[in-house]
Amino acid sequence: MLIDVHFHAFAEKIAHRAMEKLAATCGVPPLTDGTLTEALARFDEWGVDKAVLLPIATKPSQQTVVNNWAASADGERVIAFGSVHPDAEDLFDELLRIKALGLHGIKLHPEYQSFFIGEQRLEPMFSAMEELGLPVTVHAGLDPISPDVTYCMPEPAAAMIKRHPRLKIILAHMGGNEYWEQSLEHICGLDGEVYLDTAYSYDLPDELFVKMIRKHGADRILFASDCPWQSAEKMFRKIDALPLTDSEKERIFSANAVSLLGISVR
Ligand SMILES: [Zn+2]
Repeated sequence: MLIDVHFHAFAEKIAHRAMEKLAATCGVPPLTDGTLTEALARFDEWGVDKAVLLPIATKPSQQTVVNNWAASADGERVIAFGSVHPDAEDLFDELLRIKALGLHGIKLHPEYQSFFIGEQRLEPMFSAMEELGLPVTVHAGLDPISPDVTYCMPEPAAAMIKRHPRLKIILAHMGGNEYWEQSLEHICGLDGEVYLDTAYSYDLPDELFVKMIRKHGADRILFASDCPWQSAEKMFRKIDALPLTDSEKERIFSANAVSLLGISVR
């Protein structure tokens, strides 16, 4: 079984426009047209059984519509997270609504939501997320939309996590895209429900990859592609070729996600 805990898709109406814009800023050719339909077609080709949809409310006013759409996309194969915007006045109500809608977690993206991970003003939000008990996926490390400033760096991320020891957090991109050495130093081995996803980590050197997995523990690493920006099949082959035990791989490819997200497997 293969579970991909990090992919993006958009509502049919806005998918094409959103993808054009994103592809232009990222400079990476997308592997889908941005729709859920095409993402599912890729998952069939790549052998992905279930995948976690990560929407992003890029403006406070988008929360409601984004989360309603996510709830409509949620199902047997698509495990949908919701999103809140840290600047939204109804942030705390929306967190409760996310839980009431049956969404499985929350996605934050510092670059698209203009916040630094260690900011004091975010403390009440992270405390509320701790109480809520839903896992929170945070984009970590470099994002091509902001080549000069990185909003979630490993060191301040580690400090925030230590202030919220009950927070279930998934730091994307192995804890810091392109800042993997710093993630190895500051993030790997942190106590608590701290998970790292492998999204967009194709360029992470194998030796460092294994070092990070061993230091953090294979039971807290989650397989992810970042579709449409990277192929899950390519990412699967890379991890499958790493010198890990079969049981470590099984945990990374599905078992960890099953227990974290409470997925029923028949
Ligand atoms: Zn992503």
